[in-house]
Amino acid sequence: MDDRPGDRRAECGGAMEPIAIWARRGGDWAIIHQCRACGTLHSNRVAGDDNEIALVAIAVRAIAQPPFPLSHLELTAES
Ligand SMILES: [Zn+2]
Repeated sequence: MDDRPGDRRAECGGAMEPIAIWARRGGDWAIIHQCRACGTLHSNRVAGDDNEIALVAIAVRAIAQPPFPLSHLELTAES
């Protein structure tokens, strides 16, 4: 797979947009990039020159915009 640091271009030459982050075993983060031109997904290790704030913003996006009310979780935790 495409796992070389700094390689952020799809074979078609389209711009790669970071869409998700996942945690690998051992604690490393990897970014899922999607090609804006053809939709191809690539997984890249987080590199030293990545924007840390942007990475965290991607990571918390799902939690910040839950598709269900979080009050259900609070009620479960208190009872
Ligand atoms: Zn592409």
